Amino acid sequence: MDEGPFNLIIVGGGTAGWMCAAACAAKLDPALYRVRLVESEEIGTVGVGEATLPQMKDFNDFLGLDEVEFMQATQASFKLGIEFVNWGRQGDRYVHPFGTFGRPIGEADFFSYWVRAHNAGQAAPLFDYCFPIVAALQNRFMLPNGDANDVRNAFAYAYHLDAFLYARYLRRWAEARGIERVEGRIVDVERDGQTGNIAAVTLASGTKVAGDMFVDCSGFRSLLMGQTLGVALEDWSRWLPCDSAQAVPSVRSPDFTPYTRSTRRPAGWQWRIPLQHRTGNGYVYSSADISDDEAAATLLANLDGEALAEPRVLRFKAGKREKAWAHNVVGMGLAGGFLEPLESTSIYLVQMAIMHMLTLLPPGPAIDPALPAEFNRVMDVEYDRIRDFLILHYIANDADAPLWERVTTMDVPDSLAGKIDRFRHRAHVQAYRDGLFGPPSWQAVFVGQGVVPEAADRLADMLPDDQLAERLAGLHATIARGAASAPLHADFVAHYCPAPAP
Ligand code: FAD
Repeated sequence: MDEGPFNLIIVGGGTAGWMCAAACAAKLDPALYRVRLVESEEIGTVGVGEATLPQMKDFNDFLGLDEVEFMQATQASFKLGIEFVNWGRQGDRYVHPFGTFGRPIGEADFFSYWVRAHNAGQAAPLFDYCFPIVAALQNRFMLPNGDANDVRNAFAYAYHLDAFLYARYLRRWAEARGIERVEGRIVDVERDGQTGNIAAVTLASGTKVAGDMFVDCSGFRSLLMGQTLGVALEDWSRWLPCDSAQAVPSVRSPDFTPYTRSTRRPAGWQWRIPLQHRTGNGYVYSSADISDDEAAATLLANLDGEALAEPRVLRFKAGKREKAWAHNVVGMGLAGGFLEPLESTSIYLVQMAIMHMLTLLPPGPAIDPALPAEFNRVMDVEYDRIRDFLILHYIANDADAPLWERVTTMDVPDSLAGKIDRFRHRAHVQAYRDGLFGPPSWQAVFVGQGVVPEAADRLADMLPDDQLAERLAGLHATIARGAASAPLHADFVAHYCPAPAP
């Protein structure tokens, strides 16, 4: 019997590959697991993926990264949420925050009290009762202060970062901790004749890299999962119709927002992501509704600074692989699936795949089927929940262009239809253990896009009107004061984590 370490081969060195390599370097005993990463400089990486979720901070903490060093290395800024412009109706604006609305008032949740007061015409807009939103819209940022009784602690934060620099940073970090990098283009994949498992990959140089298990991080090519094992992509484009994007950097704007902006357009939507050295921009669109040339012109006409390059076109199809773990291959990142970047969920999905893989990693080359079965179950939950949340943004809209006419009348997955009905009638949002998104996220998008419940949780009826009005007014003032006390985001970053000029 072979007593050597378990050979884990990561195929691909984009964000997914190097995140996985870094986690392996941090958490796997090198005496038991030998980890190598194969990547091809000639092929390169997708190079987008600049907006993240607060879970990325957990991932960095899990690795033990220093926040300031990480932010300087990736030209990062802070992100308190996403501003949605023209979603719902033209002229509307709302922020999906990384934080909660209000504070506990009585037996029901804050949102139910707000619905009751709102429907009686006695509440300010929901978004005024959320510290990270009020601070973000004034371009202010501070770290949570750790005081559970202070509204200035009721939020989490994420980062905007340069995707190239992040992969490069993690590469340095992982290589310094023993991950072996193999440069070369994979031209052939060898399978075991009996099990069908992947046995080795062969590079253009002729070098063969053999392994016990493989992580496919090869991007949209899906070299092992899709091309070699034939694991099909479950196509979700009937619900998420955008299939193209153009990305372009522009010079840093004075409007250094601690949030991502998503502006709805006739054939899709445009992102704006402020970094320390530049602003990232892109137009995500349905190619059935606009030509590439028109999309590029729209994107360039709507930048708030001079473009630093020509727009770059990317093509994709919404969906996920039917299995996230098949044979001895786990698919992560774009090789495993892609749901458009409207809620910045892809890097989060990589992170979840890494954590679940580490939990379920077999102790030796023999893989008990119970391990992939559980991995596939949890990854399905993750994907399904994000899919439903993304679709909600599409259907709760004015049908003011052909794309939007189609999506606002489409059939939605049953799982989403039930969520919408429960929200409309009783302000109910299920809080679940696994997967994104929590009740404040659903509440933000529903209300932000014009879906306000007919009635709230009956427990919220118990507080007398005058007491409810007083509590809401007090909270409104406290949040406004708290936000005004936070420094400007630009000043905070310049002081806390100034990145060197590129
Ligand atoms: P890639 O970066 O494509 O890396 C693939 C790797 O595989 C490369 O190293 C390549 O060299 C290697 N490779 C491929 N074939 C071979 C071969 N034959 N031999 C050797 N090596 C090979 N995510 C977010 O979280 N937030 C966002 O804001 C966001 N915005 C996005 C916007 C767009 C338009 C798109 C398309 C994606 C966005 N994403 C976003 C997703 C994010 O970019 C990816 O999830 C992330 O970058 C991971 O990519 P990857 O590592 O899977 O693939």
